[in-house]
Amino acid sequence: MIEFRDVSKIYPGNKVAAQDINLEFNDGEFIVFIGTSGSGKTTCMRMINRMIEPTGGSILIDGEDIMSMNPVDLRRRIGYVIQQIGLMPHMTIYENIILVPKLLKWDEAKMQTTAKELISKVNLDESYLDRYPAELSGGQQQRIGVIRALAADQDIILMDEPFGALDPITRDALQELIKKLQREMGKTVIFVTHDMDEALALADRIVIMDEGKVIQFDTPENILQYPADEYVESILGEERLNQARSAMKTVDEIMIKNPISINVNDSVRQAARVMRNSRVDSLFVIDDNNVIQGVLDIFDIEKIGRRSAQVKDIMKDAQYIHDDTRIRDAIYSIMTLGYKNLPVVDKDYKLVGLVTRASIVESIYSGIWGNEGSNVSETVQSTENN
Ligand code: ADP
Ligand code: MG
Repeated sequence: MIEFRDVSKIYPGNKVAAQDINLEFNDGEFIVFIGTSGSGKTTCMRMINRMIEPTGGSILIDGEDIMSMNPVDLRRRIGYVIQQIGLMPHMTIYENIILVPKLLKWDEAKMQTTAKELISKVNLDESYLDRYPAELSGGQQQRIGVIRALAADQDIILMDEPFGALDPITRDALQELIKKLQREMGKTVIFVTHDMDEALALADRIVIMDEGKVIQFDTPENILQYPADEYVESILGEERLNQARSAMKTVDEIMIKNPISINVNDSVRQAARVMRNSRVDSLFVIDDNNVIQGVLDIFDIEKIGRRSAQVKDIMKDAQYIHDDTRIRDAIYSIMTLGYKNLPVVDKDYKLVGLVTRASIVESIYSGIWGNEGSNVSETVQSTENN
């Protein structure tokens, strides 16, 4: 575990790089620092291995104050990767991978095993170890750069905008790779970026910084859902916030309330009349307490012919969803499983609404364009109430 306790870094001339930082990172977490340029990200990261020493407060690793540790030992325990993972052109891939283990004076056999293990993780065979970087494609070189960062088997790895200069496609691929390896190998990664997409894709938790201070420290989901202030909202951007809001919405916000229903003890004749009057082809069947019992389809009425039968004799089981179902899950049911519409019930299984294809489409539109605009669900509601 890494703890920041009231940590500050103030340069001469009262230049504040970091102020009153309180953070706790768990082992195996992927932590991303994000913020505008000069907000103190690199300062915070470099204080963890004492490349920069705090002017106030303390940093603890597994309960031990790093100021009481030998800085050389400390840096051995902590990997550090700076901007762009360039390989040494005059060294073989093997020599590149074992750069740090060699400095740490590992024995040759252990370095060989490690290099072979790591190269297999990026789907390159061992013969690549003897090649030079120029013999590999750009993407292959970048992957070697990523495994090199993990080669010394340190529990903690600091990465300062390692993918900053890469094209978006390479960058996506390397993000996926580092995340996968970090999980597999159980590393604690502290990663600095100024790219919100990168932060959201990688982080277990994100530290949002501004002017040397931590503005918010939370999971990507919580940050999207509950941005701490306008600064956080501004770096998230309107589009991501809209998407997050619509992803969190539940069906009770878009359902048509009081859908047309029929009592389970009513006759099929009555049901047919209700259908005809309201121009619908199916009815949800409820009991006296409004609890859903089933669904009655117009074709089943046609089939039976006998209008004196009771609703309960010919109704079918209804598929329903609860009112706290996320809209995106309802989208799955309606669009993918092919339901025409779905009744919505509350926690007591009382019928409270109906979600239709039209109401789903409406919610997708408002997720994309915000809440102004169309009123499809109102249209549907009034049609069905007529
Ligand atoms: P970031 O990585 O978020 O871009 P830094 O942590 O590098 O920001 O810097 C935070 C602030 O501290 C900046 O305003 C920067 O100018 C200042 N700073 C960094 N290093 C020094 C230094 N050696 N002397 C004075 N100010 C510094
Ligand atoms: Mg920086």
